[in-house]
Amino acid sequence: MTNKFKYFIANWKMFGDFSSIKIVNSISSYLKRAKIKKNKVIFCVPSTLISHFSKNIKKSNISIGAQNCHYLDNYGPYTGSLNAKMLREVGAKYVIVGHSENRKEGDTDKIINKKIKSSIKNNLIVIFCIGETLKQKRKKTTNKVLNNQIKKGLSGLKSLKKIIVAYEPVWSIGTGIIPSEKELNTSLSFVRRKLISRFKTKNLVKVVYGGSVNPKNISELSRNNEIDGFLIGGASQSKKKFIDIIKNCYM
Ligand code: PEP
Repeated sequence: MTNKFKYFIANWKMFGDFSSIKIVNSISSYLKRAKIKKNKVIFCVPSTLISHFSKNIKKSNISIGAQNCHYLDNYGPYTGSLNAKMLREVGAKYVIVGHSENRKEGDTDKIINKKIKSSIKNNLIVIFCIGETLKQKRKKTTNKVLNNQIKKGLSGLKSLKKIIVAYEPVWSIGTGIIPSEKELNTSLSFVRRKLISRFKTKNLVKVVYGGSVNPKNISELSRNNEIDGFLIGGASQSKKKFIDIIKNCYM
């Protein structure tokens, strides 16, 4: 239901192997065939696949991203970690930071802020996730939570040029439940207003929605004019579902 430029960001989490490049290339061919130009498709894949995918995607109408990074720019004694510089070097152009699954594992707003700064310094575009838990929603503290996450996560930043904000209500991720039209409107307008007032710009504000997006609910979700796109988890692992999401969004 839209004619507006849209982001479709796939978050594959712990899914995929080298052969999964087929999914990405099918989507690339679909985009070409369908002549859908008003979009940007980004696949945030496991770090093990970034280099292979970046080298083997057929057309450059799709970008590859990472799903997280360490906050240090250089060497540190952090076994198993990868920093933004390393991810950039193997071909990532984007990185998800602040996903609720990582916040649950200990990523605080302060750490997230450092990760964002390091990512920007290393020339990655950040997909910055924010969102309230079910408990916070029930306590009616959604706006307070979002405001805090924006304020602390983006502290010290001068521009939104390298930031895409992903509003992902935690209670919606992987549950099949999406916010009502009214709830979505309220939260998205709030986030947008906060970003505009903090960065004194309208043009650079990009806010995508994430949480149980699928081919059936995409038409309803894309009726919302405030949305600049979608962050898609489970459904992005299926070629058919991902194509149907894009198709149904523009129908
Ligand atoms: C996510 O994990 O970012 C996400 C949106 O997941 P899902 O689409 O599966 O709810």
